[in-house]
Amino acid sequence: MSYETVIGLEVHAQLLTATKIFCACSTRFGAAPNENSCPVCLGQPGALPVLNKKVVDYAIRAGLAIGCTIAKKSIFARKNYFYPDLPKGYQISQYELPICTGGAISITVNGEKKTIRLTRIHMEEDAGKLLHEHPTTRSKEASWVDLNRAGVPLIEIVSEPDLRSAEEAVAYLKTLRSILMYLDICDGNMEEGSLRCDANISLKPSGAEKLGTKVEIKNMNSFRHIEKAIAYEVQRQEEALQEGGKIVQETRLWNPEKEVTVPMRSKEEAHDYRYFPDPDLLPLLIEDSWVTAMHQHLPELPTAKRDRFISEHQLSPVDAETLTSSRDLANYYEACVKVYPDAKKVSNWILTELLRELNNSGRSIKQCPIKPERLAGLLQLIDQGTISGKIAKTVFLEMYKTGEPADKIVSRQGLTQVSDTGALEKMIETIIAANPKETERYRAGNEKLIAFFVGQVMKETQGKANPQLINEILRKKLKP
Ligand SMILES: [Zn+2]
Repeated sequence: MSYETVIGLEVHAQLLTATKIFCACSTRFGAAPNENSCPVCLGQPGALPVLNKKVVDYAIRAGLAIGCTIAKKSIFARKNYFYPDLPKGYQISQYELPICTGGAISITVNGEKKTIRLTRIHMEEDAGKLLHEHPTTRSKEASWVDLNRAGVPLIEIVSEPDLRSAEEAVAYLKTLRSILMYLDICDGNMEEGSLRCDANISLKPSGAEKLGTKVEIKNMNSFRHIEKAIAYEVQRQEEALQEGGKIVQETRLWNPEKEVTVPMRSKEEAHDYRYFPDPDLLPLLIEDSWVTAMHQHLPELPTAKRDRFISEHQLSPVDAETLTSSRDLANYYEACVKVYPDAKKVSNWILTELLRELNNSGRSIKQCPIKPERLAGLLQLIDQGTISGKIAKTVFLEMYKTGEPADKIVSRQGLTQVSDTGALEKMIETIIAANPKETERYRAGNEKLIAFFVGQVMKETQGKANPQLINEILRKKLKP
């Protein structure tokens, strides 16, 4: 029998607020254990939560960008479970009446467009963290609790089971991550856990209506792990079903070393959590004016930007996709085009030279030592004939190293292109005289040898000769 894979994703995105969702503690990553904690995040009796308005702003922004309906009234609920890093014994989340419902995200896989529907987006607080090794003594004799992360604001973005493969899941996640980063509400840093993903995976006989038993893989935080974990789980379930076995509804974890999923616990149902409205928090009422204000703050989103780069700048879809992969990169590109309107040339330099150097030095585009105006300045020097395209690459590397403007480097290093016809003619005559065999063969019809002569001139001038001019003079002088 053949089976169809059905995947739904739950993504937890940490919001970029300065303080936690229900108290004034800092959300800074990397602080000493428990440095960012107070009676509210410690869950001490009598400590009352106060909702951070920024969190609501960000959740509305995410909802609007994804086309969700923003609820006029939403409710915070207590999700009750016991966990050592959750001192209150419950997590404040949203259950019935979440802040956003509906919406959809378009993805492209192998050139095919597909729409993935969203179920909901809700706000919640993160739990703390258990350290199974002491942060300073490295002792493993006990476990320690760090509550810095407890109360850090999250939005959980839940998709419908519309995904059909690991590839689609990764494409969805990449698109979602880029939207959140464009909105400036999540840093997208998966290593630090700012974006985590749970995947619900089930298999059903091809064409069947009814979904199969699902297995949830929890807490994955890299695209590679997600792709591998889903592929593994699909295969595991398929083998079990082919052999006539049953899939148990459970939660599993991905083990990246062994590259397998392992059982964690049997799946709990919603009623196990005994959700109920949090009596300490009033229902959240959102007026239209709030939503309108957030609407006005929405930036141009990645898909719209990509389409505009294709139609306005005549870039290829692949180039436009790369340039819009992050908002900072797109901004950099646009700043260059503003000063130097040849979009194709600008995109070529960014996509090859610039991205290579950034990659090699492990820098982000924000840390790029070459300002957009200066990259434009370099391209202008090529157009003016001051330097050749080849020398420009050398100048570029020096600009990357020093951050200096191109013209300064060119004049300091004497890299100005040789466009003096008289001097070039003399040099070419000498080269022709020194290479009689090649000259003879060229004159006998082997025109490919022109490249050899160009190479000689470039060597002589250390790449500074104007290539067009060399070609002209060479063809004239080499004529039989
Ligand atoms: Zn606190």
